[in-house]
This record gives sequence, C-alpha cells and structure tokens, in this order.
Amino acid sequence: MVQELIQLTQQLIAIASINPQATGQTNTPYGESRITTFIIDWLAAQDLNAQLQPVTSDRANVLSVAQGTDATKTLLLCSHTDTVETTGYQGDPFDPELRNDRVHGRGACDDKGSLATMMIAYRNRVKQSPLPVNLAFLATCDEEYGMTGSRYFAKNLPIPLTAAIFGEPTGLQIITAHKGAMRLRLTTHGKAVHSSMPHLGQNAITTMAKAVQIVETFAADRASLPPHPKLGHDTLALTTINGGDQPNIIPDVCQAQIDWRFLPHQSPQQSRDQLAATLAEQLNCHIDLDILDIFNAMETDENHPIVKKFTNAASPITHTPKTGAVLYATDASSFTHLNIPTLIFGPGHITEAHTTSEYVQTNQLENALKIYTAFLNKL
Ligand SMILES: [Zn+2]
Repeated sequence: MVQELIQLTQQLIAIASINPQATGQTNTPYGESRITTFIIDWLAAQDLNAQLQPVTSDRANVLSVAQGTDATKTLLLCSHTDTVETTGYQGDPFDPELRNDRVHGRGACDDKGSLATMMIAYRNRVKQSPLPVNLAFLATCDEEYGMTGSRYFAKNLPIPLTAAIFGEPTGLQIITAHKGAMRLRLTTHGKAVHSSMPHLGQNAITTMAKAVQIVETFAADRASLPPHPKLGHDTLALTTINGGDQPNIIPDVCQAQIDWRFLPHQSPQQSRDQLAATLAEQLNCHIDLDILDIFNAMETDENHPIVKKFTNAASPITHTPKTGAVLYATDASSFTHLNIPTLIFGPGHITEAHTTSEYVQTNQLENALKIYTAFLNKL
C-alpha cells in the first residue's frame, strides 16, 4: 500500500499547480485546473462520487461524499491542491524523484503528500465497511494565497459538517490550535506642496515615520500580556511601505501594511481599534487603519472526543499523546464560524515546506496513512 501512496504523491507533484494569484497566470505551471481534473478522474476510477465545486471561473474545489448511516453528521478530510512558487528550486520541481527515502518536488510536503494520504485513506475506509456517519473528502484551491476555496466551501456548505481534519505538514503531530492573521493598511495624510517650501505643506512620510515607531512600541508591549499556553504572544510586523510620487513634491499620502498574527481568544476588530486609538492619540492627527483581510485563528478543546480518538490512533506510532500548535494559518481558518472541532495533521515537516529542495519522507507518508486508517476505523 505504501507503494501506491508514494506513486500517487509523485503523480500529484508532477502536475504543476502553483497558486496563480500573484502572477495572474493560469497556463501551466500555474493554476489548479489540471490537478482537480486528475483528482476527479482518480476518484471516479475508484467508483467514488466526485463533484467539481467552482469557486471562480477558472478555479475549483473537488468534493467527494460517502453516505453514512447517520446522514446528519459528516467528518471532512481536507487538503489543498495549490503550491507556492518554484523560484530558485534546485532541480526540476515537477520531476518527483525518489531519493534516500524521500519524495522530492514542489508540493511534496505542502500539500501533495497530505492530499495523496487522504485520498487513499478515504477510499480505503469507504470501501471497507458501512460508515456510521458521512465521510467527505475535499481538495481546496487557493490555500496558499487567499483561502478562497475553503472560504467558499464553508459558506456554501453542501453537507452538514460535524468535524474537519486538515492535511498539512505537521510532522505527524496533532495540531489543535493556530494563530490567525490580519492584514491592515495604515494610511497617513499630508498636504502636497512644492518641495522648495516644505513649511507650507505637511509631509505624510514624516508622519508615517512617527507612526512606525508607535507601531513598533505597541508590538513590543504585547510581550507583557498573558501568553497563550501553546501559542505564546500575538505579533505585529510592518511588511510594506509606500509614499511619495516624485522628488520635488511634499507627499500627501503614505501607506504601510501591517501583518498581525493574533491569538484564538483575541478579537481582530478590537485589536485593530486599540492600535488605531493609540496611533490617533500619540500622533494627534487623522490616520486610517483599514482591515484588508482576516484569516481566523483556530483552537479545538483538548478534551473533545475527536481529539482523544485521533490521539489514540496516532500515539502507538508517534509515541506521544501530546497535541501541538502552529503559528501559521490554514484552511481551518475558514471554518471557525461553524463552531465545529478542527484538527491539523499530516506527513512532512513545515521546515521542509516552501523550500528550494522540498521533499517528504516516505516513512512520514506511510505512518500518516496508518494513523488516518486507525482513526477512520474507529469512526
Ligand atoms: Zn499547506
């Protein structure tokens, strides 16, 4: 069975599916359409139902649902089909070479190893015996950029969801919490005049320079707040800045972006308001602080039965009953409004993801499949 899993991982890597958002291109190697077609064909060849769920005109999720005795409950297995860019990749990123018990290639651990493991675990369980509850498999598009695939699915739920597991490279650790991400745009305003008479205008860049210091102090002060037991503190970072049009005009506008990684119990809106109030008070002038996007934080109660079940399935192989937390956001962010338990689990390590020599170890694949199998047998 491990041979089939390795081969499927290689087949998925060989179908380039770089997230097209940054470049706007959908011709190969960009876009998810070819890999979604492959997954639909694979499911159909196994006699499993498969439907394309269009998200935009050229991007889609793939969903397969197997009916259980209790059709009011559904456990979802979800992985994503897109990958990050291949710039600087050593060798051919789409030639999935097996070397030293590692499958190499872009997406090997993020997220095609998880995708292949879930596809096989799902098929095996559906074929094996009647299901007590519905079991669904979802392959989402656009996890790496806007999570539009999982957002669309969670907003237009075609099935009643009761729990969801997301395949990501956790190194076989069961993840019960992750931070959220909020993107903010800070705008300072000024008055444009000829730069030979700067005293007649107001320089938006100068105001931004002060604002940057205030944001940095505000960020450093977060360390004095009580930490989350697994995730520590929230963090803020200024990530872009733009201001001024030409050298002889005093700039009337300057904009910066802030990336805020917040904790599960924090309200992103309230956090934003707190920073806006601090900036307004200390700068003593009007600024704008706009929320561009929010990816929710995730946290599942450690005592939830699904956590216990998954831990019981994993611990004979991983030899640890401990669950963990990660700092990055996942497709689970799109499901928080449903108030269902969510877990993240999969083969490969996040330190190997997005690198110029991405790979997944074959024993990680094999053990991930064993754990998923043990868990699904106890549904
Ligand atoms: Zn991923």
